[in-house]
Amino acid sequence: MSERPLRILFALTEAAPLAKVGGLADVAGSLPQALLRRGHDVRLIMPRYASIPAEQYPILGNGLAVPIMGRQEPASLRQATLNGGVPVYLVDNAMYFQRQQVYGEPDDLERFTFFSQSVLEALKQVGWQPDIVHGHDWHVGLVIALMAWGRATGSPSSLCGTVFTIHNLAYQGWFDGLYASRAGLTPLLPSSPPLGSLMALGIYHADVVSTVSPTYAREILTPQYGEGLDPLLRSRQERLHGIINGLDYSLFDPASDARIPAGYDASTIERKALNKAALQKRMKLAQSLGTPLLGMVGRLAGQKGLDILPQAVEPLLAAGKVQIVLLGSGEPQFRPPLEALSARYPDRVANVFAFDLEIAQWIYAGADMFLMPSRYEPCGLGQLIAMRYGTIPVVRRTGGLADSVPDAGPDLGQGTGFAFDEYTPGALQGALERAVAAYAQPKAWHGLQRRAMAADYSWEASAAQYERMYRTALSLARPGAQVP
Ligand code: ADP
Repeated sequence: MSERPLRILFALTEAAPLAKVGGLADVAGSLPQALLRRGHDVRLIMPRYASIPAEQYPILGNGLAVPIMGRQEPASLRQATLNGGVPVYLVDNAMYFQRQQVYGEPDDLERFTFFSQSVLEALKQVGWQPDIVHGHDWHVGLVIALMAWGRATGSPSSLCGTVFTIHNLAYQGWFDGLYASRAGLTPLLPSSPPLGSLMALGIYHADVVSTVSPTYAREILTPQYGEGLDPLLRSRQERLHGIINGLDYSLFDPASDARIPAGYDASTIERKALNKAALQKRMKLAQSLGTPLLGMVGRLAGQKGLDILPQAVEPLLAAGKVQIVLLGSGEPQFRPPLEALSARYPDRVANVFAFDLEIAQWIYAGADMFLMPSRYEPCGLGQLIAMRYGTIPVVRRTGGLADSVPDAGPDLGQGTGFAFDEYTPGALQGALERAVAAYAQPKAWHGLQRRAMAADYSWEASAAQYERMYRTALSLARPGAQVP
């Protein structure tokens, strides 16, 4: 088959800089550009949330009538363009998307059922026939199922390959039988296996399934990481791929990052200390350049290791060996143990419970070490950004962290960080003690920093793997395949 350029539609619910909750937005804001550079025609479709100003984006066409819960709901389609020239279709409907937040609304299931239905209507309206529809995470699992259904029933706009990428298996969009029948999902459900979530629908119906690192692709086949979907995933194992995320190095470059106090690169790494001093000052920590400063940026969620963190760092704080800056927003139950630490060590621990892209960059640039003690981590972007900024990751060896942070080893002569296996405070503390000991050896530490900054997690290699996966999906896309 000749390697012709592909027309690829990304269906998803966040894309930086239009709307960002987590790593999915970073992927959506950068992988399409990398595919565009490879010559493909890539477009995105996502909801227009209240935070995306409507006036800036012109309406396309005549408006959509979207089937939802047995009625037709009107929506309009707007067009935006991402950095680098990737077109984005924004589905505009006030009832479902004029909300304070992207996720976490009581009717999320219906909101994203609506969005998924609107994707098929939008495709008809824009008159652009993709070769590949690439859905991301549970919110658009239904898009994949509807494409399979359309293909089986001879709908011309469904004649394309489908790829479904799992960015986080823990969030699945569960529904019950009543919802399935009200939302018209019943025809999409096979008699066996029983499927009870939109995530499962996407996994079941896609021509190819992928996730965001090779290790996570293996882990999710096990009950420990499979979130109840491991039997379904094992049944589709031969179609499951693991491709690590890249980073947009034009956005995450300490030499040109306008958000940080002092720019630097590997040859001027000593300027990193200016960022550390500025961060300590801003966070009201003791102005001590010699004390290793640990940074953490992430969602406050069970996945991120916040239950083992306080116990692991307490002895190091008590001994005055480290300072910590934590930036996070999310589930409030994780705050009190962190607040207790900052109350106990006010000049050594600073917590910022907010979503703040500027403070995040100050931490990536100003911290010495970056903490990601995750219980599981499909890919993780924080460690990739940290390495780019010469900030040494301390990670649990799981998922994408295992794939991207090789351990420094006993003589510190290799690797880019410190990794531990067991999900316990003791194991995390052990990795931190090793990192603190390494920090005290400037030559070895600079070696680690140089290797971390030189590690290449740009999108080029991963985009080539996505391209191969799309061609596999196309070759597997047969009329009627996988539809009950
Ligand atoms: P996840 O997708 O599970 O949230 P990732 O590590 O893949 O985790 O991606 C998280 C992204 O969101 C990173 O770019 C990180 O810097 C950013 N981020 C997470 N929490 C915050 C926050 N409170 N403020 C600013 N940026 C954040």
